[in-house]
Parts: sequence; structure tokens; C-alpha cells
Amino acid sequence: MRRKTKIVATIGPAVSSYEAIVELIEHGMDVARLNFSHGVHEEHAQRFRWIREASAAAGKPIAIMQDIQGPKIRVGTFPSGSVELTEGSSVELVPGEGEGTAEQICVAFLDGVHLTVGAPIVFSDGLITLQTDHVEDGRVVASVVFGGVLSDHKGAAFPGTRIDIPVVTSKDEADLNFGLDLGFDMIAASFVTRSQDLRAVRKIVGDVPVIAKIESAIGYANLDDILHEADGAMVARGDLGVELSLQSVPRAQKEILRRANAAGKISITATELLESMTSNPRPSRAEVTDVYGSVLEGTDCVMLSAETAVGAYPNRAVRAMDIICREAESSPDFERAPDVSGLDDRSRFASAISEASVDTANRLGLNTIVAFTESGSTARLLSKYRPRADIYAFTPSETSYRRMAAYGGVTPMMFEREESTDEMFMRAEERLLDLGIARPGEGVVMVAGIPPNQQATTNIMKLHEVGTAIVDDLQG
Ligand code: ATP
Ligand code: MG
Ligand code: MG
Repeated sequence: MRRKTKIVATIGPAVSSYEAIVELIEHGMDVARLNFSHGVHEEHAQRFRWIREASAAAGKPIAIMQDIQGPKIRVGTFPSGSVELTEGSSVELVPGEGEGTAEQICVAFLDGVHLTVGAPIVFSDGLITLQTDHVEDGRVVASVVFGGVLSDHKGAAFPGTRIDIPVVTSKDEADLNFGLDLGFDMIAASFVTRSQDLRAVRKIVGDVPVIAKIESAIGYANLDDILHEADGAMVARGDLGVELSLQSVPRAQKEILRRANAAGKISITATELLESMTSNPRPSRAEVTDVYGSVLEGTDCVMLSAETAVGAYPNRAVRAMDIICREAESSPDFERAPDVSGLDDRSRFASAISEASVDTANRLGLNTIVAFTESGSTARLLSKYRPRADIYAFTPSETSYRRMAAYGGVTPMMFEREESTDEMFMRAEERLLDLGIARPGEGVVMVAGIPPNQQATTNIMKLHEVGTAIVDDLQG
């Protein structure tokens, strides 16, 4: 069986060559994430081209995700890349994104943060904590409560403080427009608080799928409203852990995955899954358990951040993900289908056919479901019913081919446009045989919308025994 859970790897300085990307693909990367919170356009464009080339050379679809910073409040830079903040020392915060020191730190959007004396300030996903001592004319003085090393562009959070900043910042707008020219396969929007935020992104990117990063208390509270508009949700545990509390993250993760899946949307679990592999060749036991648990909770994708972006063992991190996911998928717990009963609401025919197909494949113990899909939505629906079988999604659209790389349990395949359903089924059968996916005599489930080539809704399921005639007339 193929691995069902997909692996997202953040591409940064540690994998910045064509060869390094080829290796990541060989080790199992399915989705490449470019984080526009870091790096410059030129670098991202170069990496984008390498990924496309390497994907073509490997004959494997890779979805490229553009992660936009959103109204994330970050510190500026430091002359040597970082500073050490020591407990008890006093630090001045100034608005802006420039260079600072251990005594004076630039903080983007500080003007929109309504700090009051005593309010906590948290840097670097909770590593460093300060307390506000003094606020005057946009100038903030704070003292370090828990010290540590603060490096360039790390995040700043202000639990409990009122914040007014735009959702799509001017930087995001420029980044999205830049990304549109490159042709990203999906967008990850940071700090989404409500569905309206996603519409602001869509206004710029059109029909490119948008994943909502759930990483604030308000975003989590508005999850259902967000899922209504989003194409997927990411459990962004870094900032979520700062905004909620560390101990609330596991429950929030479960809830976000469950509700995203029930809404028929892509689900991604992110941040620190194999964090120790940033500097160690092997993960910790706790990390393995975390990845394994995320798979059982129904995530479509597991994501690597620093592990691949700046880590010492990017390939090993991807390999570790691959091994852990396969192990989790082979466990009896994985087979318990998630509750997706809410799915029927929007696409009644498609979801009924999908559910019936998955049921049938499971009941007959079949290994292969073939989906013919233009937009990929049939494959996405099928995948949400979590069949034991592998879903092979045949599409004539290169865009869908790449986007489906992020769908759990789905193997995208390019496919010629065919005139009739019968021809479509026959050509697909040939491909299955050629590639050794199915053997003669084996049963497969085929799912399609007919008539073909007309954006028909998914409305037909065929049980087919490979090697037997699809149309008698054509046999002779
Ligand atoms: P986010 O909150 O969006 O996840 P992040 O700062 O946590 O942002 P990640 O994408 O999770 O960033 O990556 C982890 C670390 O890897 C970053 O903090 C940064 O140090 C480094 N990194 C990621 N991408 C790049 C890049 N393109 N250039 C330089 N460093 C990068
Ligand atoms: Mg984040
Ligand atoms: Mg991160």
C-alpha cells in the first residue's frame, strides 16, 4: 500500500539547491512550503523553479504552497542574526522592521498593539517572556522575565492585549501578486480570524486553494465560519500554543482536524512534529508518538518546518515522517473511519457516490479506487471517507494533478481527455495494468461524473474486474 498521509516540507536555506530538492522528493516530500515570512522574492522564485524541475524529473507531482505572513508581529533583525536577552534586563521596543540590539528591538506593527503596563510580551513561540513596564508615544519599555536567544524575524505575541492590524498586509499583497506570477498550487494564510479574511486573500488569488492557518484564539473560536470559506485548515501549533495555552493545543488539534475533515477540507498538522531533528539525526520518542497520533486523528498532511528549512538532517526528517506515517496507517486504529456525516450538505450526489464507493471497496477488500476528476473535488471527497484502498485520481488538468498531491490517500495521475466513459475506463485500466497497480482478475472501483468533459457532478460508480471487457463490441 502507498503512504496515505502526505508530507509537507518547508524549503529554506538547508535545502537550497536543485540536488537537495531532488533528494527531499526521493525521501517522500509531497508538498513544498515556501514561507514568505523569511527570505526574499528572488530566493523563493529560484526554489520554486527547482521544485518544479525536480518534480518533473521525478515524475511525481509536488504541490507548492505559498505561506504568507499575515498580520504576524515579528521582531526585526540583529547585526549577528541574534541577541541574548538576559533575565531582569530592560529592553526598549520600537515600531518597525529594522536592525536592533539586546537593548532596543524593532517590532513590526507595534503601533497597532495597545499595550498597557504589566501586559506580557512573548517572543519566539513562547521561548522568551517580557513584562511591559512603561508605555509612552508608541515607545514601550519592558523587562525580561524569561530570557533566551532571540534571532531575526522571530514572532512576538501579546496575550490578552487588543491588536488592530490589517489581515492582508501590504507585504502580503505584494507577496501574493508575486506568487500569482509564479503559479503556486495553494496558499496558506496566516492568522486568519474569520471567513472574511479568506475572502480578502481570494480577491487577489482567484481560484487558488487557500488553507487557513488556525493560530489564534479568535481564529479557533471562529473555526466553522472559517472552514465554510477555506479549502483547508492548518493546525499551526506554534502560535496557537502561545495564544491559547500549551495544554489546550492537543484538544484544539483534535477539534480542528475533525471539523476540517467533516467539512470535506484539507487538514494539516504543523509545527515541532520532529523539532529535535533540526539538530539530531533521530527524533525523540515523544515526537514519534506525536506524529503517529496526528495520523490517527485524521490529518491529511504532517508538516516539517525548521527540520527541513534550516535543519541539519532534512532528508532524514522526511524519511522519519514517512516511516512513522506508514506505521500509524497500518494500525487497526487507523481503519476506524472518521465521522464525516456532515459532508452530504453541499454536494449530495458526489458525497453519496463517494461514500458508497468507499464502502464497497472496504467491504470487498479491494485495493484500488479510480477517480476521474477535473477539479480534484471527487478525489478529495473520496479521501475524506478514508478508504483502505488507494485512490488513483486521473485528471486531464495539470493544476489539479499538482493540487491533489496534498490530499490524503490520493495518488494523482495525468490522463488524456477521452470522448466517452467507456474509453475513459479502458484507458485507465490499461494504465493500472501497465504500472502494475492492478493485476488481471482484480476488482477495482471506478468513480466518475458522466457525461465526461462537462464538469458533470460525480454520479456514477462502476465495479470492474480488471482484464474483462468493458464494452463487448470493442473486444473483438
Ligand atoms: P510561521 O509562524 O509562519 O511558521 P516561522 O518563523 O515559525 O513562521 P517556519 O516556516 O516554521 O517559520 O520555519 C522555521 C524556521 O526556519 C524559521 O523560524 C526560520 O528561522 C527558518 N526559515 C524558514 N524558511 C526560511 C527561509 N526561506 N529563509 C531563511 N530561514 C527560513
Ligand atoms: Mg505561525
Ligand atoms: Mg513555524
